Amino acid sequence: MAYKFIDNYREQGARKKLVSVLKKRGIEDKAVLRAIGKVPRHFFFDETFWKHAYKDIAFPIGEGQTISQPYTVAYQTELLHIKKGDKVLEIGTGSGYQACILMELGAEVYTIERQESLYNRTIQILPYMGYRPHFFLGDGSKGLEEYAPYDKILVTAGAPLVPEIMLQQLKLGGLLVIPVGDEDSQKMVTVLRVGENEFERYELDSFRFVPLVGDQAW
Ligand code: SAM
Repeated sequence: MAYKFIDNYREQGARKKLVSVLKKRGIEDKAVLRAIGKVPRHFFFDETFWKHAYKDIAFPIGEGQTISQPYTVAYQTELLHIKKGDKVLEIGTGSGYQACILMELGAEVYTIERQESLYNRTIQILPYMGYRPHFFLGDGSKGLEEYAPYDKILVTAGAPLVPEIMLQQLKLGGLLVIPVGDEDSQKMVTVLRVGENEFERYELDSFRFVPLVGDQAW
């Protein structure tokens, strides 16, 4: 596939409108809205589908996977309270869009994807756009032990449970954001590490993600 990187007035205007849609839906964090307003989401789409890039919808990216809905990206990012320099592990690179949003907020991003064709696409497209996370191919349901601990861990696929092994890869004071539930619906769960073996868990709104597939997942 040949990538086309043109950010014209039409796309820029559509991006502004998307930001106001997200504001209306309750996203308040100005830095998150700024990042959504900056990252050209249509770069992750084939040109034929650019007209869909700034609708608040998930969209197929191949291999039965999706680029998450902008609202979901904004919602999960807002929960993470990213500070400049935060070391963040993203599980489920997918298109790479979420990783760009995290980097716009100043995070150092480690991102892992299990599908080789998606991995191969993002390792080309993101650096082309000027974004350089640390890319990994493999099963992120076990986290990424090698580079732990992390300030934040973000899971962008639906898990049947919170993998214990991920919790152990959080720094003290670190935060995990993960959708947990069955295959049809998941609750957004946040887990804060407050002590060596002490965690505070909260359950928030319902979403529908593609499944997290792996050793500690489906
Ligand atoms: N963050 C992505 C984006 O911005 O486009 C959204 C990705 S999509 C909703 C979820 C991704 O998680 C898919 O690309 C899927 O292949 C990946 N995935 C599922 N199970 C995984 C696992 N065990 N390890 C790594 N990636 C996984």
